[in-house]
Amino acid sequence: MLNATQRELLQLISARQGLSRSELALHSGLSKAAISGIIRDMLAAGLLSEAEAMAGNGQGRPSVKLTLRAEAAYFVGISLIAAPASMVLINLSGEIISHCEFPLNNSPQQLVSDIQYSLPRLLERAAISPQQVLGLGVTLSGFIDEHQASCVQSALLGWRNVPLAQLIQQATGIDVFIENDAKALAVSEKLFGHARTLQNFILLSHGDGIGSASFIHGALYRGAHGGAGEIAHCTIEPGGAPCRCGKRGCLDTIASLIALKEQARNQQLNIATLPELERLAINGSTAALDIVHRAGNALGLAIANLIQINDPETVLIAHQPGAFDGLLSTVVRQALESHVLPGFAGKTPLIPFALADNSWAQAAASVAAHRFLIPLS
Ligand SMILES: [Zn+2]
Repeated sequence: MLNATQRELLQLISARQGLSRSELALHSGLSKAAISGIIRDMLAAGLLSEAEAMAGNGQGRPSVKLTLRAEAAYFVGISLIAAPASMVLINLSGEIISHCEFPLNNSPQQLVSDIQYSLPRLLERAAISPQQVLGLGVTLSGFIDEHQASCVQSALLGWRNVPLAQLIQQATGIDVFIENDAKALAVSEKLFGHARTLQNFILLSHGDGIGSASFIHGALYRGAHGGAGEIAHCTIEPGGAPCRCGKRGCLDTIASLIALKEQARNQQLNIATLPELERLAINGSTAALDIVHRAGNALGLAIANLIQINDPETVLIAHQPGAFDGLLSTVVRQALESHVLPGFAGKTPLIPFALADNSWAQAAASVAAHRFLIPLS
């Protein structure tokens, strides 16, 4: 297992996507001699590789760039966000190298036994031994405690205080971390995606539900109890439609894909997807136009409030394929610009990206990789 210094060096190399020995000495505060010895051991252990020589300043030897070896460690990720449950194996570069599915079951005992059954098959397909797997992450829609260990509450799974990490850890012998869906996705974007170089960003996920997560000064902000970012249940319309959480007028009741489809159904609009609803709006359906406008305004207002509170460098919008490049996206951007202070307007880029089939399971695996690289302080 890695010691604290090795972890710190891996973290520095990972964050900067490669560093020379002298840069490592500079960033870590260790002497060049100490770095040299530690790096020799890490190269021998197969954790690092030496890449191309970096251009020097014309004096002395060119320095060699050290990078993480993708094969140095593997992580398993499991998504319990939708049926069927999906499971992936990623390497230290975040690439999916094996995947499988099993039925989504809300009995924790059944889930653990399904994981126990599927895990050896997942590893066999990639020819990876269990000893090479250094962590397992699980993501679900719900409230996860501050230790990334227990599901405090999940409406989707009908859970309250389920010690899921402990149950899976006992069954598999692997370190297990649980994370809420939007936070897991933010971790994945920070380690492997659009946010690698960002220190302060917000991720908003838009799909059947809505979620958000923030990185502040390079660290995931989880709040005092693990519940930071529950934007879906911010009240946008006081006294509005009842929400599954027990309150009224939450953002979720207006702008989630489920809410959009339900409003369309109530207006006898025959649509199955958001692009179809947008097409009706563009072709002159006032009812469709009202639904998309109301949702876009609510989402834009919520994002404006997030920007106002945190002043991030960027807001990432993770969306279903085709669900954020039409009218809704235009209305969100207009609402956002009209609700932020003039000083903030135009300063915070919105970067939308579409989720793929395995994005959530990959995000779950990223949580385990993140805990491996950057333990909670
Ligand atoms: Zn609610």
